[in-house]
Amino acid sequence: MTDASGENLEQRICSIAFALGFDLAGVAPVEPGPDTERLREWVARGYAGSMGWMAARLEERVDPRRVLEGARSALVVGLACDDGCERPPPALRVARYARGDDYHEVLLDRLRAVAAAIEVACGRSVRAKAYVDTGPVAERALAARAGLGWIGKNACLIHPRLGSHVLLGVLLLDLDLAPGTPEPDHCGTCRACLDACPTDAFAAPYVLDARRCIAYTTIEDPGPIPPELRAAHGDRVFGCDVCQDVCPWNRRRARPALSDPLGLHERLAAPREAWCEGTLGWLLAVSEDELTVVTRHSAVRRARWRGLVRNALVAAGNAGDRALAPLVERHARGDDPMLAEHARWALARIAQAEAGAEGRGTRRAD
Ligand code: SF4
Repeated sequence: MTDASGENLEQRICSIAFALGFDLAGVAPVEPGPDTERLREWVARGYAGSMGWMAARLEERVDPRRVLEGARSALVVGLACDDGCERPPPALRVARYARGDDYHEVLLDRLRAVAAAIEVACGRSVRAKAYVDTGPVAERALAARAGLGWIGKNACLIHPRLGSHVLLGVLLLDLDLAPGTPEPDHCGTCRACLDACPTDAFAAPYVLDARRCIAYTTIEDPGPIPPELRAAHGDRVFGCDVCQDVCPWNRRRARPALSDPLGLHERLAAPREAWCEGTLGWLLAVSEDELTVVTRHSAVRRARWRGLVRNALVAAGNAGDRALAPLVERHARGDDPMLAEHARWALARIAQAEAGAEGRGTRRAD
């Protein structure tokens, strides 16, 4: 049914989402899709690692009608966290999506505004439930079914114009809406992400073994980082962008900066002062209380103090910087066995780097 402007309900709802700041919007069906079996197999193979919540609520994840009784459609929205503006990278290496304000808060606030506006547009109360990585909803799969892009070999949703640095949200609705048309897969013969992954985390194209992924080891998993993967973590203290940075759909976008009338891109993309001015030394010394304050309204808080210090210890070992050794030693003597073990590993790396530098100096003197 179309309104006076000639828009049908799906278009009107997407127009509402655009007016409230989203870059992408589309409608997905809520019935279990063709990706259901893939997700089941992924979990069954253990690729979710310690993310037990994946398996625990798998049935809801594959069938949103179990999440919102009476759900008939899903509005899927996207907001770019790479707005095309040139900004110097922050001093502390934090994944792009987490550099600014917490995307959960930014997107959820907007999605709730969309839900309220939909009720006005429909002239009746509408049952709706919003999710932004906040519950058992498969945002990426729904986004692909809504036509917002395709899921690439790096397992990210890729939009032909915006690339993959796009944050997703879902609004389940008790409205019957016609779904969008899925975008074909444009990866072709490319395998740049598979080859560039520092930890070789792809079991196959499109299949990420989260247990090897730096986003998992530095954020999702509270346990020790596997020793064989630590060197490949480099200086990353929260997440990793490599498989997206090398993707041609992100690199070749010579597009002007996105318009930002509501300031949402700026909130997501502008790195916080803590990441711009923070150093590994600061992260190794920061107290839990101070970090709680610094990470308020930041997605980085997900890793918690212990996880971030663990990550900083690995980064310090990889830096091989003797100046960091006193701060690392404090953790080696501390009463947290996991942090102490990572600190001992870091001290050994620093000593190794020093021995290597001395060896090279001696050879030069010879
Ligand atoms: Fe697809 Fe290549 Fe991008 Fe990987 S890097 S997601 S293979 S286009």
